[in-house]
Amino acid sequence: MRLVEKAHQHLAQVVKPGDLCVDLTAGNGWDSLFLANMVGEKGLVYVFDIQGAALLNTSERLENEAKFSNFRLIQECHSKFDLHLPREHQGHISAIIMNLGYLPGSDKKVITRHKTTIIALEKSYQWLQKGGCLSIMAYQTHRGASEEVEAIKNWFSKTFDAKKKFYKGINPTTSPILFWICKS
Ligand code: SAH
Repeated sequence: MRLVEKAHQHLAQVVKPGDLCVDLTAGNGWDSLFLANMVGEKGLVYVFDIQGAALLNTSERLENEAKFSNFRLIQECHSKFDLHLPREHQGHISAIIMNLGYLPGSDKKVITRHKTTIIALEKSYQWLQKGGCLSIMAYQTHRGASEEVEAIKNWFSKTFDAKKKFYKGINPTTSPILFWICKS
């Protein structure tokens, strides 16, 4: 099973109709679509990306393929996602997802960076509800990737009061890594 499918399989166990979710890296919108269809008509998915092109791709996908109009697209660095969510959502988010690296099909100029990634992760953990989950897909081969993976491993090992899992693809140095954290 591909790690993206594994992440979706885990999310399907946690996300229920009516939930609040956040996609911190819209990209081409696959994860946003998955979450939007899971939370249903009464739920809501906040979707962030720093790149207009990614939000355009995502909005096209969601407009055409999502079953409900239950998503908000926001062009902003994910380290500032909290500035765009109502305060009362803090502690009530059931899942937050990050799929790092660059926009597939782009010129790879815009990539996620370890400093803003870690700020986004720290804030995400605060905004999750008890039992809520954080799914982080990290890649190892593009420029800046190894720094980012190291920073995430370091942060992951310090998140004490959480249940954590770690999945790797076949090749230890080149395959993607899925970090999965449940707030306890
Ligand atoms: N989940 C996507 C793939 C994500 S690609 C899919 O399934 O298709 C990574 C995305 O992160 C890119 O679109 C890129 O623009 C975005 N990104 C990079 N730095 C960011 C930042 N600081 N804040 C928000 N998004 C960022």
